[in-house]
Amino acid sequence: MSTPLHILEHTFGYPSFRGQQGEVIDHVVAGGSAFVLMPTGGGKSLCYQIPALCRSGVGIVISPLIALMQDQVAALRQVGVRAAAINSAASWDEVRAAKDKMRAGEIDLVYVAPERLTMDDFLGLLRETPLALFAIDEAHCVSQWGHDFRPEYMQLGALAEKFPDVPRIALTATADAPTRRDIIERLHLKDGKAFIAGFDRPNIAYTIVEKENPRSQLLNFIRQNHLGDSGIVYCLSRRKVEETASWLKGEGFDALPYHAGLGAELRAANQTRFLREENIVMVATIAFGMGIDKPNVRFVAHLDLPKNIEAYYQETGRAGRDGLAANAWMAYGLQDVAQQRGFIESGETSDEQKRVERQKLSALLGLCEATRCRRQVMLEYFGDACAPCNNCDTCLSPPRTFDGTAAAQKALSCAYRTGQRFGVNYLIDVLLGADNERITQFGHHGQSTYGIGKEFSAVQWRGIFRQLVAAGLLFVDLDNHGGLSITDQGRDFLKSKDALALREPRAAKPGRGKRAAAASAAVETKDAGLFEALRAQRLELAKEQGVPPYVIFHDKTLATMASVKPRSLGDMATIGGVGDAKLARYGQTFLETIRPFLEDA
Ligand code: ADP
Ligand code: ZN
Repeated sequence: MSTPLHILEHTFGYPSFRGQQGEVIDHVVAGGSAFVLMPTGGGKSLCYQIPALCRSGVGIVISPLIALMQDQVAALRQVGVRAAAINSAASWDEVRAAKDKMRAGEIDLVYVAPERLTMDDFLGLLRETPLALFAIDEAHCVSQWGHDFRPEYMQLGALAEKFPDVPRIALTATADAPTRRDIIERLHLKDGKAFIAGFDRPNIAYTIVEKENPRSQLLNFIRQNHLGDSGIVYCLSRRKVEETASWLKGEGFDALPYHAGLGAELRAANQTRFLREENIVMVATIAFGMGIDKPNVRFVAHLDLPKNIEAYYQETGRAGRDGLAANAWMAYGLQDVAQQRGFIESGETSDEQKRVERQKLSALLGLCEATRCRRQVMLEYFGDACAPCNNCDTCLSPPRTFDGTAAAQKALSCAYRTGQRFGVNYLIDVLLGADNERITQFGHHGQSTYGIGKEFSAVQWRGIFRQLVAAGLLFVDLDNHGGLSITDQGRDFLKSKDALALREPRAAKPGRGKRAAAASAAVETKDAGLFEALRAQRLELAKEQGVPPYVIFHDKTLATMASVKPRSLGDMATIGGVGDAKLARYGQTFLETIRPFLEDA
């Protein structure tokens, strides 16, 4: 039997374990069950892949998405591991072959969807199969507290009872404390060990800008930071996805749409292009992304507010899995707040569920309006801590605050005195003492708040109203044309005369992270030519085999090759990500790509 470290070095080509990987692996190899929470890109896959290889028998991996399974299987085969996926995309022959190998114990890892796992005939097959372990990937799907609940996952609790001697390892990247407890409970992992790594993704730079002209803000962000990169742009609605994708196309980008309303074939085709090509901008609803483990997504942009911090963290976490610099960027405005509040109130969920959702949304709004390090706000939400990160917009250019007590009082009384039925634009007109038809029509010239807000511009007032809505002092009634009404909290504020600090609006410049993170920025300028040549070689090999380029080598591996410039297979073997199988298969080819770039060539 090989040791975990031997497998890490020779099969996967890495010299040492990362974070808690080694501990998790030892625990599972010894037959223990585990709950593992590690950030995206933290290296969860090896936590079950290596134990499956060390232990005798077959490792069964439960994974919610077919696309994810296919890529994992392709990547494992590249490193010489015997793996298969049993799902609706596999042919009958493939499935039969995989089942035969399972019974004979002649396969290392088998990926299945949760609904199949709990079918009687599959359970029968499992009883005839020597089992190394069960790995439950994306384990937050088992919890209704999580943000991606899947009823099929509920059945997985039964594995504990049906296969008491087989270790089970549940893995996720996003779960707050209640979700974690819920997962452990539902999957009966109380007797196992919990491994909770930090949540931080230090290579992702976070930026949240106030929405002014979102399209041009987005365009500036991509042009300044990400020309030629792969990225994802999230929008809330299908229509906005379509419109944004075709507009980006018009601006010269390789943009593709993805949402649940597209035919299955087109969706699959767009997803495949995103995975296999290097510079696609995917404009998508949240239907896209679960299980997308393309390592070199360089940016994730949000044109609409997500549901809560977990969702935001998971969506943005799809950037920079390879550990290289990446950007998470969001444009956010009053309308977003109103919309998300509206979804909660109109949803057909229990009052209890609504209360949870409201709290989660408030936490997200707190993040958007934060005046301190955004990473700190997010990590604290997950029960973690960090020093100011110096890699988010509020660290890099701290927003100024001002005493907004008087402004808030004016805004609230203006809403009150005009009958709590007007939208933000009209209220601003009143505060600024505008002279227009509507003001005349409603007879608000003589109103006591008319013209009392001239110390701020309309833009500044927008920012103030947005913050008051985000803080829960005002409520936007979407059923009533976006009319603003005062909440109980707003009334309390007016009575208490508490001080209120508000953010000053930013100067209108496009938000951006610390640095440009274009793919070529992964290497020094002098090696950029070689890096491009290596990428071209990789793309050619990937096309020949019909696999995504990153299952051949990751960008990080190619970047190391470009700077180290190995001259022999021996040199090549020392590069991270080059294991025995890949060395034998591709070593020579890449040495030849490198040769013309050697100094004495
Ligand atoms: P997760 O599933 O946690 O998001 P992955 O398992 O996909 O993360 O791993 C992320 C990346 O890190 C992969 O490219 C993987 O090959 C790499 N990786 C994992 N473990 C190590 C390690 N010990 N040393 C170097 N790279 C690693
Ligand atoms: Zn920060």
